[in-house]
Amino acid sequence: MKRTLLKILACPACKHHPLELEAVVEDSAEVIEGSLLCGRCGNVYRIVDSIPEMIPPDH
Ligand SMILES: [Zn+2]
Repeated sequence: MKRTLLKILACPACKHHPLELEAVVEDSAEVIEGSLLCGRCGNVYRIVDSIPEMIPPDH
């Protein structure tokens, strides 16, 4: 996912914004593997193959 997405992504569970990005694999423009952490409800959303999995845990 592009780093600029962080500015618009909100937690799907509690709508908190912004999320904390923890990049594991990245290039200059995109995060390929990593996770997004919600500082309010503590949910973690994985980024796999550059796609953030924004699925609430009670899905
Ligand atoms: Zn949240």
